[in-house]
Amino acid sequence: MIPPAHGGRLVSRIASDAVRDRRDAELADLPQVVPFIDQLYDADKIGIGAYSPLEGFQGSEAVASVVSRGRLPDGLPWTIPIVFPVPTGAAAERLRDVGPGDEVAIVDGRGRAVAMLRIDEQFPLDRHAIARGVYGTEDAAHPNVADLLAAGETAWAGPVTLLRRVEAAGGRPDPTPAETRDEFRQRGWNSVAAYQCRNPPHTAHEYIQRLTLEREDVDALLVHPVVGRLKKGDYRPEVILEAYQALVRHYYPAQRVVVQPLAITMRYGGPKAALFLAIVRKNFGCGVYIVGRDQAGVGKYYDPYACHRIFDQYDIGIRPLRYEESFFCRRCGWMASEKVCPHDPSQRVQTSQTRIRESLASGAELPVEILRPEVAAVLRRPNVILTE
Ligand SMILES: [Zn+2]
Repeated sequence: MIPPAHGGRLVSRIASDAVRDRRDAELADLPQVVPFIDQLYDADKIGIGAYSPLEGFQGSEAVASVVSRGRLPDGLPWTIPIVFPVPTGAAAERLRDVGPGDEVAIVDGRGRAVAMLRIDEQFPLDRHAIARGVYGTEDAAHPNVADLLAAGETAWAGPVTLLRRVEAAGGRPDPTPAETRDEFRQRGWNSVAAYQCRNPPHTAHEYIQRLTLEREDVDALLVHPVVGRLKKGDYRPEVILEAYQALVRHYYPAQRVVVQPLAITMRYGGPKAALFLAIVRKNFGCGVYIVGRDQAGVGKYYDPYACHRIFDQYDIGIRPLRYEESFFCRRCGWMASEKVCPHDPSQRVQTSQTRIRESLASGAELPVEILRPEVAAVLRRPNVILTE
């Protein structure tokens, strides 16, 4: 069965055309707010129901509950606060008189109104408490902690109405949970496993995807790369999607795999981010969720298997499939993990994004034990990595 949305009802806060036209006419009179790009993606995801049951940016009570116990005030598991820090600097001066009871237009970098936010509450954002409680560190070297500490000290909370979708890869918005669920139904899939990723696929990814497709309790696989805010050195979203499409076209049964982007900012919160990413995939209709080693980790902040254990602490209504690190073992002559391979680690072919990037950059051939040639062909094209 396709699971119900988190909390039981798939939220939709997309304005109808009539409302949008009326709003467009009114927008000029409303305070315009250009937030950090993370909040644009979040407004979009609230609007399409990817963050069900959230209908808007969270207020002080919800944030305190999420940070301290990983749950919404009503007890439903939820581990990442979705907040709207009020912009600082010159923008703050202009917004000084805006507060509870007011409505603001959330505007993108090109001046287009993306959403409306009705301000129900203005509250001090305890950024250090969020850093400690969610990311487990206040170290400003952690990317999300750095963003948090750079954000304003005040936040607005309230319901969001989405006027216009935010673009994802290739200038198009990403599919909504309703569209994705419709596709699953039309294809007769009841049990879809979601695969979280941020990079093009190498053989270790392929191995756990194949193990998942082998299961009799899995009908299909949703490959769902997180695109969204990018940084220098990341692959372009189109490249990640094309690399996966090459893998699907040449090596997977196409009638059992779908690849689509998810445009949100990646939260590298280790276990708490892994649980959040699973909840989002449940909203997209996935009843099974693949959790690899050190999912949503960065640096050495998290125990690589804490992201497995958190699924024992919270029941979010979908089944986690937990996989250990996999590798190609020369002795086995096959992909393996410590669960199935008894050989010395020196027999393993090391697969890492770093090694793949270095080999591609130097023009060296990558063995098929690491990367499919059709995927390598996509990654060898010029201009696949963001340079600024
Ligand atoms: Zn072996």
